Amino acid sequence: MCMESDAIVLTESGDLERRTVEVDDPGPDQVLLRVELSGVCGSDVHMWQHGERDSPVVPGHEFVGIVEEIGANVATDSARRSIAEGDVLTVVPGISCGDCWYCENMPTRPLTCNDRDVHGFRSVEQPPHLHGGMSEYFLLEDRAHFYRVPDALETELGALVEPLSVATHAVERAQPPGLPHAREGLGMGHSVVVQGAGPIGLLTVAAATTVGAGQVIAVDMIDERLAMAERFGATDTVDLSEHDGDEFIDAIAERTPSGDGPDVTVEAVGHPSAFEQALEIPHNGGTVVEVGHYFSAGEAAVDPSDVIHSQLDVYGSLAYPPGQFDTSISVLERTVDRFPYGDLLNYRVGLDGATDAFETQAAGESYRATIHPRE
Ligand SMILES: [Zn+2]
Ligand SMILES: [Zn+2]
Repeated sequence: MCMESDAIVLTESGDLERRTVEVDDPGPDQVLLRVELSGVCGSDVHMWQHGERDSPVVPGHEFVGIVEEIGANVATDSARRSIAEGDVLTVVPGISCGDCWYCENMPTRPLTCNDRDVHGFRSVEQPPHLHGGMSEYFLLEDRAHFYRVPDALETELGALVEPLSVATHAVERAQPPGLPHAREGLGMGHSVVVQGAGPIGLLTVAAATTVGAGQVIAVDMIDERLAMAERFGATDTVDLSEHDGDEFIDAIAERTPSGDGPDVTVEAVGHPSAFEQALEIPHNGGTVVEVGHYFSAGEAAVDPSDVIHSQLDVYGSLAYPPGQFDTSISVLERTVDRFPYGDLLNYRVGLDGATDAFETQAAGESYRATIHPRE
């Protein structure tokens, strides 16, 4: 037995087509979700524009659904909170194999897995066929991690749990080795620069503010984004367009308590020059977190000697482990009245508007375009 679901399919030729796909009935360990909305991420746009895809694919890895049918063996979400029909769930896109050397030997770093599967990037021709969130329905496999969105949060905000997890993980990467009283690692009252005020940058500003950073300086070249960064907790903003070249790095330093730069910088632009600047921004002995280059944008020119002499800790932050969703849901619940999360979802369409949504996101005209299969 199976049912049908209308979905967006990204075809071999790069078109976003509305098609009907088959969905299996949920087995005893599975959950059938009725999808409410799915965000269009930069990685979806990249897959669409650059043709590196496993077509035909149903995109969507930032989605929220309502439990429509629940398998007999499923009683809780991945945080062991009970779930029932009608509950709102958000789904962790990455699934580690559990079986490779990394999964067996580095279980705290699930993204090192050699054989990771990710929702929204696999061909509909392989089982379980429907593997992305831009669809009316989604069948949750038993190996997936998923978390209940509390009733106190609006359903739509659940679509921000995935990008917020990228941001909270990036901030947590700045915290080791965890001797904040010795100024080793990000602690309370420390200063943080966030380069780039797109969705990940803004959520990083919110996350840094939430963990108790003192000064949070947002850097971008678009006024509207800098104004948004202030609403997400930035204490200072630096407009790149007002400075020549790397001169803004001195402007940042002048504003920090040491006069030498912040304790931490998080690079959330994704341009090689921003990484080069990131290595110059913190004071000596500071921390750099690179989160912007999920996809390669070319090479940066780095003098390794500078990294040694400035004694930087440089961390790569790739997505997040599944439990990061639980962290981010708590952060969202705690700060929902403080930061304007809902304003990030600023371009909404139904399934028929998918191409529009991708174009708008690609042009940087929306923070997060969202596709609502029921509209
Ligand atoms: Zn994403
Ligand atoms: Zn593995």
